[in-house]
Amino acid sequence: MKYPLEPFKIKVVERIRHTTREEREEIIKEAGYNVFNIPAEKIHIDLLTDSGTSAMSDNQWSGMMLGDESYAGSRNFYNFRDTVKDIFGYQHVIPTHQGRVAENLLFSTIGGPGTYIPNNIHFDTTRANVQSNHSIALDLVIDEAYDPECDHPFKGNMDLDKLEKLVQRVGPDNIPVVMLTITNNSGGGQPVSMQNIRETSELTHRHGLKLVFDACRFAENAYFIKQREAAYADKTILAIAQEMFSYGDGATMSAKKDALVNIGGFLTLNDSALTRQVTNKLIMIEGFPTYGGLAGRDLEAVARGLREVLEEEYLEFRVEQVAYLARCLTEAGVPILKPVGGHAVYLNARGILPHIPSEQFPGQALTVELYLEGGIRGVEIGSLMFAQKDQETGKMTYPELEMVRLAIPRRVYTTGHMRYVAEAIIRIYQRRGEIKGMEILEAPEVLRHFTARMKPLD
Ligand SMILES: *Cc1c(COP(=O)(O)O)cnc(C)c1O
Repeated sequence: MKYPLEPFKIKVVERIRHTTREEREEIIKEAGYNVFNIPAEKIHIDLLTDSGTSAMSDNQWSGMMLGDESYAGSRNFYNFRDTVKDIFGYQHVIPTHQGRVAENLLFSTIGGPGTYIPNNIHFDTTRANVQSNHSIALDLVIDEAYDPECDHPFKGNMDLDKLEKLVQRVGPDNIPVVMLTITNNSGGGQPVSMQNIRETSELTHRHGLKLVFDACRFAENAYFIKQREAAYADKTILAIAQEMFSYGDGATMSAKKDALVNIGGFLTLNDSALTRQVTNKLIMIEGFPTYGGLAGRDLEAVARGLREVLEEEYLEFRVEQVAYLARCLTEAGVPILKPVGGHAVYLNARGILPHIPSEQFPGQALTVELYLEGGIRGVEIGSLMFAQKDQETGKMTYPELEMVRLAIPRRVYTTGHMRYVAEAIIRIYQRRGEIKGMEILEAPEVLRHFTARMKPLD
């Protein structure tokens, strides 16, 4: 297919306001050259994140009118719980208002000094929640994940050798949980194969450890398994998802991704004792266990979204739309991370701006250019987000990849919008030699990319 065809028609529209280049120059300066500080109304195409930015369906909106706002035992909770159980298969379902609360509940209960929590690659909030609970966060993805040119079909896979070595080095008693992020957001939205999930599960359980999924994009991961792993070509997405989760002991989930809603999340576990501990904390920080920081209507929208996200024609368009943007760019020679992941195109900022070293934030420089050129908001995933002092040695470490993520919101933009974005990036690429690095003026210690103020170098 040359152009991905939207498998929906538009019932409600939202106006996009244009700005001129001169206006954008003023706006970004005022924002401290950090696109997180720009008012959304001053953005033309917002590819900052695919999180919480989905367009809900008429089915989800009508479900919201059936919200039962009872404090305890809302009917929407039961629908939500049963839907999650059907797909994930774990015994307990704990609603939270975002994925990071599920992470916090989990790591604050099982983590602590002297413990290690491995993952293929931790997402930024996951890493922050692990570290703030005094555990050491480790990324044990296969080496291919760090080669932007490598076309491995499952670059999100866990490196089983590295995981086995970790268990030998620190001992299973100091590993409260093994996490696996599907798809691997911080590594480019790359999927994990069913085979790797199965083998990670075997290794983990052989040592008496638990495997918990960071399941934010589980449906996209399942779709890639169907496309790329021969044994799954004829299975439904639901059956693939159920099999993936059957190899684990629980999951954290941000419903703002593959539940197609604007707010929500959950933690789902088999362990009853752990669930009791977590539930006590939930009541303290989020709410009663049948709403967990959400309204009844939100729970209904999540339940309906979880069903819709499993529809194959939706997933086909989703993945094709991302691939289409990537194709427009590669045809013009723009270096991007390969292969294309499920939710975003990752520009290879090191490849586009080889003259800017990591200490001068090539990804951030490119992010600023995107806004100036087309009012497009992407996000730096490179040294601004990830450079940090090594927890064990205290040395400054820079990430292997310098990228700018263009995350595509679900069901929001059309093929025409993708074309517009591609053309702006191609124009930037043609004048890439003129682009300068950046320096930080002020920034906090953790999660600094959200609030840092920067300036371009002369
Ligand atoms: C978004 C995300 C989270 C955190 O979820 P929030 O709902 O934003 O708190 C955790 N892990 C991954 C992989 C994510 O993409």
